[in-house]
Amino acid sequence: MSRANRFMDMYQAMLAALGPSGWWPGETSFEVAVGAVLTQNTSWANVEKAMATLRAHDLLTPAAMLDISEAALAEAIRPAGYYRIKAGRLANLLRFLRAEAEEFGHGEADLHDPALPMLQGRNARELRERLLTVRGIGPETADSILLYALGLPIFVVDAYTARIALRHGLAFEDAGYHELQEIFTDALPEDAALFNEYHALLVRVGHEWCRKKEPRCRDCPLAIFLD
Ligand code: SF4
Repeated sequence: MSRANRFMDMYQAMLAALGPSGWWPGETSFEVAVGAVLTQNTSWANVEKAMATLRAHDLLTPAAMLDISEAALAEAIRPAGYYRIKAGRLANLLRFLRAEAEEFGHGEADLHDPALPMLQGRNARELRERLLTVRGIGPETADSILLYALGLPIFVVDAYTARIALRHGLAFEDAGYHELQEIFTDALPEDAALFNEYHALLVRVGHEWCRKKEPRCRDCPLAIFLD
C-alpha cells in the first residue's frame, strides 16, 4: 500500500466508523477564532460556557470585544480557565485584526463584521506567518483559525495527531509540530474540507480510543492499520 493510500484508507476507516464530525462548532469566523484561543489547555465544555457568556453580552464581534476592558473580557471568559492569560491573548488577536483591517480591509468597519473580512481571500502561508507573530498564538491555534475559521487548506496538528502517527509508525517520537504537519500534508491532497474532517476524526479517535495510557486498540477503527 502506498503511503498516500495508507493515509486516505485510515481517513475512510475513521469516517465510516464515526460519520462526519461537523467541525468546528461556531457560527462565525470570529467565534471560531475566539474558540481556538479559549480551547488552549481546557475542555470544549468549558469553552462553551465562556462562549455562552460572550454571546449573552453581545461580545462576538471584534469591535464589541475591543470596546471592553481586558479585565471585563477576562471575567466574561472565566469558565474557560487561565482566563487572565487568555484575555491577554484575545486582546493581542484583536489588535492584530485591527491592524490587518487597516492594511488589507476597510479599517474600523471590518471590525463589526464577525466574518473577519480583513482575513478572507488571503494567501494561507503569508497569513500564517503574520498570525504566528501574535503573542499567545502558537502553530496549533494559528492553524485552527486558518482551517476552521477561514477555510484555508492548512493541516492542524495536536497531541492526538502525534500519538496516533507515532503508534502507527508514520512519524518518529521526536517529530515536532511542523514535521508532523508536513507528513500529513505531503500524503494528502491539498483540500481544506479533507483537512478539516481528518483532524476532527483524529481527535475523536484519540479521545475515545488512543488514550495516552492503555490505548483501546481492540475495538478502534484504526486497529486494522497496526503492523
Ligand atoms: S487506539 Fe490503537 S488502533 Fe487506535 S489509533 Fe491508537 S494505536 Fe491505533
